[in-house]
Amino acid sequence: MRLILLGAPGAGKGTVAELLIEKYGIVQLSTGDMLRSAVKAGTPLGAEAQGYMNRGELVPDSVIMGLMEQRLQSPDCESGFILDGFPRTIPQAEALKAMLSRLGLSIDGIINLEVPRGVILRRLTSRRTCSNPDCQAIYNIYTKPSKKEGVCDKCGSATIQRDDETEEAIGKRLKTYEEKTAPLIDYYRSEKTYASLPALDGREVYENIVAFLERR
Ligand code: ADP
Ligand code: ZN
Repeated sequence: MRLILLGAPGAGKGTVAELLIEKYGIVQLSTGDMLRSAVKAGTPLGAEAQGYMNRGELVPDSVIMGLMEQRLQSPDCESGFILDGFPRTIPQAEALKAMLSRLGLSIDGIINLEVPRGVILRRLTSRRTCSNPDCQAIYNIYTKPSKKEGVCDKCGSATIQRDDETEEAIGKRLKTYEEKTAPLIDYYRSEKTYASLPALDGREVYENIVAFLERR
């Protein structure tokens, strides 16, 4: 099973992906997580990406495509994957299409998560992320708090607000989403494997995605 998840920042792609990877035994490929790991590890790629990320801007397409090309060919991707946070621009979508055909891979589902803007804003400011780069568990102070405030349930590291989750950076990210990423909806709309689903409730949208995939 190979899937693409689309949606604004804070639409709940990570949460839905977690349920789908369990169901289908596939891996989640989140460019955001990969970039944050590279930043924490202090690699040259991480150093290049960090400024863009902190400002809420997109990292250049060439950097992202290099990351993805490597990742898609690792052995753990053989049973399938879910792309989360990628593609993020039309050029990335076009490069992905070329890359998949070169690798002889097809996509089974392209799912857009629909969430109203007010909900997105509230979710993003209430998000906390595990500071351990190997964990990166995500919490929400309202809807998914850690058992002990400020401490990750999974690994015990501190949970923090990401630098790109200040109000200013969030405004910028949403603007970037509207300009650069939302056009992907039109780009993919005519594909047979495309579905756009209301996604207020993570569990419910997960069930609707599974129903959509099994109908096909
Ligand atoms: P969000 O929570 O906004 O969905 P992610 O965790 O997916 O954020 O990404 C965080 C940041 O990493 C983005 O704001 C952007 O700077 C960078 N990033 C992640 N994926 C991509 C991508 N496919 N193309 C360009 N930049 C990316
Ligand atoms: Zn953790």
